[in-house]
Formats: sequence, structure tokens, C-alpha cells
Amino acid sequence: MIDIGANLTHPAFRDDLPQVLQRARDAGVSTIIVTGTTVEESRKALELGFYATAGVHPHHARDCNSATIESIRELAGHPRVVAIGECGLDFNRNYSPHPDQELWFSRQLELGIELNKPLFLHSRDAHPRFSQIVKQFKIEKAVAHCFTGGREELRANLDLGLYIGITGWICDERRGRHLLELVREVPRDRLLLETDSPYLTPRDMKPQPKARRNEPAFLPHILRTVARALGRPAEEIAAETTRNARQLFGIDESRSSDEPRSSPAAQRPLAA
Ligand SMILES: [Zn+2]
Repeated sequence: MIDIGANLTHPAFRDDLPQVLQRARDAGVSTIIVTGTTVEESRKALELGFYATAGVHPHHARDCNSATIESIRELAGHPRVVAIGECGLDFNRNYSPHPDQELWFSRQLELGIELNKPLFLHSRDAHPRFSQIVKQFKIEKAVAHCFTGGREELRANLDLGLYIGITGWICDERRGRHLLELVREVPRDRLLLETDSPYLTPRDMKPQPKARRNEPAFLPHILRTVARALGRPAEEIAAETTRNARQLFGIDESRSSDEPRSSPAAQRPLAA
């Protein structure tokens, strides 16, 4: 399986990343795409040897300038950068003013199109503004990562041709129940799975992990919840979502031996 979104450069993984990666492999998560939330984090993800996205999260839009876009463009030339992002709108926390968020979201969309790269999109409490902006661009390959919205938002995303990323939010009995129903409306060739580690630990995991930290090894837990919601075998969903991820991000795992992603060896430079 492929975890399409994990924040493995987060300090929560500083002390035991090799063990985290080993547990992921043991759980059948063969590939991890590390989410880049700033230029610095995107660069760090590449240094660690992972597949990564390169971009700036809307929380950090206020710190962007034209040099930011040039840095992302440069990072995007790396063979392990599989998408531009994460970029988008976050009207939940509002860490950056909306005009800044919209400007740097648009600039990253432009860049993705210019470079013909998939886009890794974030939208939180930003419907319908998010779709209005995406609609202005000719986006061909993109995922609405960590989808948490309602039916209307889902329809809007699917109409835009977006893939839909489902996280452990769907395991949350307080705020994710609607997703158990909505996930049935996602076409089979549009569904992707992600943990968003270390955030969004599935709330129904017993026992809860230490410090409630989420990690890629918990992706199969999300898979099983999705499979139950769809009334279909987990193996089928695993195969489909893996195929979808490969297709969207152009990941060819048979070719990956010279491109370390989640091997402990890839971390030696930093450990030294
Ligand atoms: Zn996000």
C-alpha cells in the first residue's frame, strides 16, 4: 500500500523514524509520500530519501513571496518530488489572512500546471471558495487530500476531476461518521488512502498509541474502516487505492531500488 500523505519530517518522529518505517513495512505500507508543508520541510523530506510533495501549506501563506515559488520550482525538478503542494485554503485555523492564502494557492496551482505535476490540495472549511479557485485553472491531476467535507463539497471536487484522499477522520465517531456514507460515492478509480501522520490518529484504535501519535503503519486500520463502509474486501480496496496512487503520482515501485524512499539506509547521512 501507499500512504499518500504523512508528515514524517514532524518533530514527533525525530527519535525513532527507522522503527516507524520498519513498522510501516511490516504492515504492508511499502511506499510513503511525505507531505511538504514549507520549502524547508519539503527539502528535508527529500534529504531523508522519501518521495515528497513540494509546496507551502495555507497556514504559511503569509510567509510566501516570489522566491518561495522559485524554490518550489527548483525542488520540483527532483525525481522524487511527485506533486506540488500541499497547497490550498484553511479557513478553520486562519493562521494566514485569506487574501494571502488565495494568492499563494493560485500561484502553486499555476506552477503545477506549468510543470505538468500533480497537485496535493488542502481544503478545510473553505468550501465553496476552494472549488471556485481550482475551477479557474485547468487542473488535470490532483488530490483533495484529507477530505472531511459534506456531500456538496464532495460532488464539487469530483466534478473538478479530483482524487479524494481519506484519512483516519473516517474512524472518528464524533465528526467523521458522514464519511462512512460519502465514501461510497467516490468512484473506485478516484479513491486514495493516507494517514496524515502524526495527526489524525484513528480514534477507534484500541489501545491508542503512545502520545496518540499517528504513523503510516496504521494505514491498514483506515483501509479496513473504508472497506467495511463499502461492504467490500479490504484486499480489493488496497489494490485499487494503490493503483490509483501510482497512477496519480507516477510512482513505479519496480524502479525504486535506486531511489530510496523508506529504507533506513536513506537516513544515514542525517544520522552521521
Ligand atoms: Zn492538509
